[in-house]
Amino acid sequence: MWYTSLTDQGSGCGGFSLGGPYRLTQPNNLGVASKGPHSIIAPGAALVSGTGEFDRLGAFAMTEKTCTKCGKTKPLTAFGHVAKAKNGYSSTCRVCNVASIRAWRLANPEKWAETKRIHYRANCERIAAQHRAYYLAHLEETKAKMNEWRARNQYKVAGTKHAYYQGHVEQALESVRKYRLAHPEQLKDQGNRRRARQRGAFVESICKAKVYQRDRGVCHICGKKVDPKHWDLDHLMPISKGGEHSYRNVAVAHPSCNRRRQNVGPAQLRLMG
Ligand SMILES: [Zn+2]
Ligand SMILES: [Zn+2]
Repeated sequence: MWYTSLTDQGSGCGGFSLGGPYRLTQPNNLGVASKGPHSIIAPGAALVSGTGEFDRLGAFAMTEKTCTKCGKTKPLTAFGHVAKAKNGYSSTCRVCNVASIRAWRLANPEKWAETKRIHYRANCERIAAQHRAYYLAHLEETKAKMNEWRARNQYKVAGTKHAYYQGHVEQALESVRKYRLAHPEQLKDQGNRRRARQRGAFVESICKAKVYQRDRGVCHICGKKVDPKHWDLDHLMPISKGGEHSYRNVAVAHPSCNRRRQNVGPAQLRLMG
């Protein structure tokens, strides 16, 4: 083959090459592709260290990089892309990044919880839909898993719960009271969902913020603005009368308007979701 004859001529140090499967340990300007560990001064005068490849025009393309944290040399795929970085890649490897994120979460549990809360609030509808879709797609699987686990651990679960309760009756009641005081909205939502479910009515997870946004904070009974911090999620057809716990069956209402309407009768079901 032609490159065999070039090798025979001692090519790679010579002045002529057509390119090919050459492996050199030093960078060269001969238009010969080479692979291997290099340390070179890049055009921007920044020192690039790592293993790379020189293309036929002598440009350096990095294929490996050394993590500044663990000191290990890894392929570029082990580093995240960072647009602002000198080489377009993070200086620390993905493994180290994950470890430091985990460490930060452990060291800042409150900040991490707040971050999660903000994310959940901004995406509550999408997350609930995801959970529901997963549950529906894995209905049998999930139920079977739960039943299996319960069957395997029923004495353990019951025993642990009972023993703890016996030893902490006061604390248990206190924590229930505290939870109820701290989560009035969740409690109402849970109760509504349970009651609707018990009556066989359609139930979906409702995000109050979305209802407020949809109704523009206007009470559906009197047509005036409600206090954003104090308003009722009114069921147009009451759950007690078989109404569903759904977006189309709820509306924003003043607590006072809501109470007044309860004596009059159900409003008309929303026609659009
Ligand atoms: Zn690392
Ligand atoms: Zn009102």
